[in-house]
Amino acid sequence: MATEQRDDSRRTHFINMTLAVLADCGNSGTTLARIANRANVSPALLVHYFGDKDSLLGAAFQHLVNQFQHDTTQALKSAPTWRARIAAIVGCCLDSSQFRKDVGSVWLAFWGQAIHVPAIMEVQRIYQEQLLSNLSNALRPVLSEDQILPVATTIGALIDGIWLRAALQGVDEADTQAVVEQIGNFVDSCIAGRQAQKLSLPAIQQAIPDTCKSWIDGRPFASTGARFTTLNPATGEILAHVESATAHELDAAIESAGRGQKIWAAMSGTERGRILRRAADLLRENSRLLAHLETLDTGKPIAETQAVDIHSGADALEYYGSLAATINGEAMDLGSDAFGYTRREPLGITAGIGAWNYPLQIACWKSAPALACGNAMIFKPSELTPLTALRLAEIYRQAGVPDGVFNVLAGGRETGELLATAPAIRKVSLTGSVGTGRQVMASAAQSLKYVTLELGGKSPLIIFDDADIGNAVSAALLANFYSGGEICSNGTRVFVHQNIHEQFIAALKARVEKMRIGQPLDPKTQVGSLVSHDHMEKVLGYIELGKREGATLLTGGHRVTDGALAAGAFVAPTVFTNCTDDMRIMREEIFGPVMSVTTFIDEDEVVARANNTEFGLAAGIFTQNLARGHRVISRLEAGTCWINNYNITPIEMPFGGVKQSGLGRENSRLALEHYTQVKSVYVALGNVDSPY
Ligand code: NAD
Repeated sequence: MATEQRDDSRRTHFINMTLAVLADCGNSGTTLARIANRANVSPALLVHYFGDKDSLLGAAFQHLVNQFQHDTTQALKSAPTWRARIAAIVGCCLDSSQFRKDVGSVWLAFWGQAIHVPAIMEVQRIYQEQLLSNLSNALRPVLSEDQILPVATTIGALIDGIWLRAALQGVDEADTQAVVEQIGNFVDSCIAGRQAQKLSLPAIQQAIPDTCKSWIDGRPFASTGARFTTLNPATGEILAHVESATAHELDAAIESAGRGQKIWAAMSGTERGRILRRAADLLRENSRLLAHLETLDTGKPIAETQAVDIHSGADALEYYGSLAATINGEAMDLGSDAFGYTRREPLGITAGIGAWNYPLQIACWKSAPALACGNAMIFKPSELTPLTALRLAEIYRQAGVPDGVFNVLAGGRETGELLATAPAIRKVSLTGSVGTGRQVMASAAQSLKYVTLELGGKSPLIIFDDADIGNAVSAALLANFYSGGEICSNGTRVFVHQNIHEQFIAALKARVEKMRIGQPLDPKTQVGSLVSHDHMEKVLGYIELGKREGATLLTGGHRVTDGALAAGAFVAPTVFTNCTDDMRIMREEIFGPVMSVTTFIDEDEVVARANNTEFGLAAGIFTQNLARGHRVISRLEAGTCWINNYNITPIEMPFGGVKQSGLGRENSRLALEHYTQVKSVYVALGNVDSPY
């Protein structure tokens, strides 16, 4: 026993001497002879205890690591909270008793050798494992499993980095206290990110008022009108009661908009733009909550509302915010006696009326160009999905938009009619069905309003036999099942060249049947609920009609009622093949997850059949032959077209339809023309030349 103890203490002594020599001379200068000399023994004795130099270095490194682990375990014993535990671990690495030049040199020497000497690399691996395991245990109560290791590894890298820097640059330069603080801030920001990700259902529900009122003059405005409810279509539960705006609220909204618009239009475009861009930032900051509200109100998967709905709305605010300062008239040279110029002036008070499929995006697509031009807008969201437009009003106010410039009237068709007829409103922009578009245009005619109409469609997607089939199937899926098929521009008539029909259908079926139908708030869900049970009945009615009309049901074709989905409006993605052009499922807008596939042989034939519809919103074609691509697109009667993709709607490009699908365009610079009127000014420079 006594011999063992003596051996242990001799070993420890030799290791300490080794560390001292390493600190002084580095790895290359550290020899057995030098260590033996420092320890006052013969090199042979070192060989007796440790074998060769590498083994001695390995033992010395192990000693350091053991010491570190021992100190950390002790420090953790008196650290009650996760924050204290992180501080204890980081402290053991960086506190002043450790953070010395000699210790740094030793670690650097070991790291340099670890690459070449397996025994040292093994000790290094064990050290890293212990560090990460200590950090991971400390972080576990506050981070999700998938966050823990990346965060622990980043902290480890910061510690290693500061050691390396100190060893190379000198310990005096390193501010270890600042590093400890930075690591604390980093962990805090990771926790905040996680909390933002994990919005709990009660927190979201708290963000929905019991009763939604209209928003007029910068605040909620009570109404005496009828109350209705907005439901979560995935569960049937009531989300909120909503007060319909009546003529009284309309008057208040017009009066406030008139006041607000004067202040707003008097600002420079640069100032208006800055405020709109600030609103875009606020939308993005609040995107998680807004996406949750949108999902609850529409039934669309959270994966979609988070990725697209809120951000595309924010894009519109940012884009028009950037253009606001560029809205100019023109100057005309009229010879030596005169010149002329035009002013692009705001229209005044405008109205936006929204559909329910992209509630916040539609509110942004309409209000952003309207406001950029110096107008006020009174917006009416769909009665089915009023929640997020009211939030947008709050965000505009927070960003600095004067009260009255963006008012929201809650309500249904009657409220919409009030807006479309009110003489003080100079323009109405509707997103809705063709029937509503006709009514709104008739109402607007009474006071000769400008009108923009974004209406329905039954768009063709044409796939030629040279197309990349994988991409074409991807596009057909996006063109029919994204947002539960509730997209106006969907390519619901899919024309597939006869030569590739079989191949296309096989790939399509396999991919449709893999789509995950589920609760909209589940991030893995790809197909959520339709917007309402009434709408689901309409869609199921069309599916039954398709079967009766003789189309072949390839897949889907039914309501989904598994488990908790039974309470919601879930419909399986449905594909009909062998469709003919006279079938109603090929002619009428279903606005649900129903794709109708047909075949064609000839380019002229398919163009004629694609154009054989009252609609003209969109069209897509797939071909590798770009000459054919441009030729066919030029012959298609559609306002928005895609070659080798579908349903991509960047804010920079005009969006809208021809024929019965609408009038005017949203997005791009073109929308600015729809929210301004031109004043022509003739300026004489000489005398008036009069014959009288
Ligand atoms: P909808 O026509 O029933 O209603 C649209 C909006 O108009 C709602 O806010 C509604 O309250 C209001 N409204 C209804 N009757 C009105 C009237 N007489 N006067 C004034 N306002 C009135 O449409 P929806 O069911 O909400 O949406 C689905 C339709 O919208 C589909 O046809 C779809 O294609 C179309 N849509 C078009 C686009 C596009 O950009 N082209 C985008 C989304 C949806």
